[in-house]
Amino acid sequence: MEPTSLQEAIIYFADPDNCRDYVVARRWPNGVTCPTCGCADVIFLAKQNRWQCRNKHSQRQFSLKTGTIYEDSPLGLDKWLTATWMISNCKNGVSSLEIHRALKITQKTAWFLDHRIRVAFGLESPDKFTGHVEADETFIGQKARNMHKSVREKKITGTGGKDKTTVMGILERGKDGKPSQVRTSVVANRRKKALQAEIREHVQAGSAIYTDALKSYEGLDEFKHEVVDHAVEYVKGTCHTNGCENFWSLVKRAVHGTYISVEPFHRSAISMSRRSTIAT
Ligand SMILES: [Zn+2]
Repeated sequence: MEPTSLQEAIIYFADPDNCRDYVVARRWPNGVTCPTCGCADVIFLAKQNRWQCRNKHSQRQFSLKTGTIYEDSPLGLDKWLTATWMISNCKNGVSSLEIHRALKITQKTAWFLDHRIRVAFGLESPDKFTGHVEADETFIGQKARNMHKSVREKKITGTGGKDKTTVMGILERGKDGKPSQVRTSVVANRRKKALQAEIREHVQAGSAIYTDALKSYEGLDEFKHEVVDHAVEYVKGTCHTNGCENFWSLVKRAVHGTYISVEPFHRSAISMSRRSTIAT
């Protein structure tokens, strides 16, 4: 059976027999085989909840965890399978905070589980930014006052960023002799959902993250989030977004110096492709 709600999943995976049925049905639908030699001649050792291969070789005994992403973790399958169930079944995504609450495990353990499962599902890159990270967004594109009148009338349909491309930049400050790195992506808008999705994709939970006072950055609870209100000051100790600001001015000079008119296609092509990594 497959649990259909979180409550059902928690109860179901609390029983080791259910965990075994669940994993065996998916991992070994044609019967349990030895992960080392592939042989099906195995005996189940009920007391240890393990199997033993009848062939003579090293690592004859194996468990449900052997050879899986769960293998080297002391955490029980009840937690692992419930977390895996949550991530694969919650259509609108699940945060590590929800995993922390549902499984009654520490936030740090929940981040670890969440990250490892997402990497295994191919939902996330294993190389997230850590340490001190800055996040900032900007508009890139032509200034209306520099456009020819006829073009301006045709193109300008709103104010502010409407006719420009919104670009999100995330910068990991240099550490251990490594230079700072920036990843940029074109985002749909400056709303919370778009900006925070980028941060969660590229920054390891628990890292220090510095942003300006834009409301969209509120609620980054799994990070050590510090805000510098640019209406008041630009630098507050280590809390600033100067790395990002420097990067934007570099990009904007390059963009405006190279192209007379920068169409959205070019804007997305100039180092704005998703996941591009630029050392500064
Ligand atoms: Zn074997």
